[in-house]
Amino acid sequence: MKITILTIFPEMFAPLHLSMLGRAEKAGLLEIREVNIRDYSKNKHHNTDDAPFGGGAGMVMLAQPIVDAIRDVQGENFKGRRIYLSPRGETLTQKKVEELAGEEELILLCGHYEGVDQRALDLCIDEEISIGDYILTGGELGAMVLVDSVARLVPGVLGCEESAQTESFSSGLLEHPQYTRPREFEGLTVPEPLLNGNHAHIQDWQLSESLYLTLKKRPEMAKAYLDARKLTRHQKKVVDAVFERIRQEEQAQQPPPVGQGAGTQEEETCI
Ligand code: SAM
Repeated sequence: MKITILTIFPEMFAPLHLSMLGRAEKAGLLEIREVNIRDYSKNKHHNTDDAPFGGGAGMVMLAQPIVDAIRDVQGENFKGRRIYLSPRGETLTQKKVEELAGEEELILLCGHYEGVDQRALDLCIDEEISIGDYILTGGELGAMVLVDSVARLVPGVLGCEESAQTESFSSGLLEHPQYTRPREFEGLTVPEPLLNGNHAHIQDWQLSESLYLTLKKRPEMAKAYLDARKLTRHQKKVVDAVFERIRQEEQAQQPPPVGQGAGTQEEETCI
């Protein structure tokens, strides 16, 4: 997969060339390239922004250097997607990440200041993507989040494809807790099903913990998971046990009925 990032701060992207993505680049699985928008400015001082028409605070990025940069990068037969990182865009989710991972090529545009002249977007951008409902100073951190999440789905990048499929959001549930050596740490032990070597018990424990966490933290996600699946009789038992566990926990948290509290005789008879 080829990813080109258009930015006025190419030096911000050093972390994308380290660790797993760096290794994937060396192995030829990925190509991540930063292009400095400033290099395309026809302005005498290589400016990339100007004051907004209509007045108002801040500056707006010029259309010309952006359009020229994108046209140069995409060449003749571009087969991919051109994305502007923007708080107005569709929010990035794992589903969107999976969709983008199927593209041959991505061009990412990072905005700054008040944003980008709309004509550059109208001429050269296929879609806008936001990384969340908050405002960043520039699109660079958003682009890094997008590249990292997409690139790790490119076959061969992780080395172990199964780990991407079982992770939170990909499986439809949040991931169960993970443990490694030692078996006991500061009095806390690893759950027994993970130690007994029985694969069926391990799977039951993982499903049970994943569902429990998802019901607690993201109930809408758990509902969608359960609605979309035909469970085996055995899985249904596991699921029922999780609901029972939550029911018991909630019951234990209820205040005791009036008259059965832990208060003293004196408190209970006081009016
Ligand atoms: N004036 C814009 C607005 O109100 O929508 C915000 C501009 S922001 C200060 C500068 C740049 O940061 C944007 O052009 C965009 O590229 C990037 N940016 C800011 N928040 C973002 C977000 N949540 N997701 C993706 N990119 C974002």
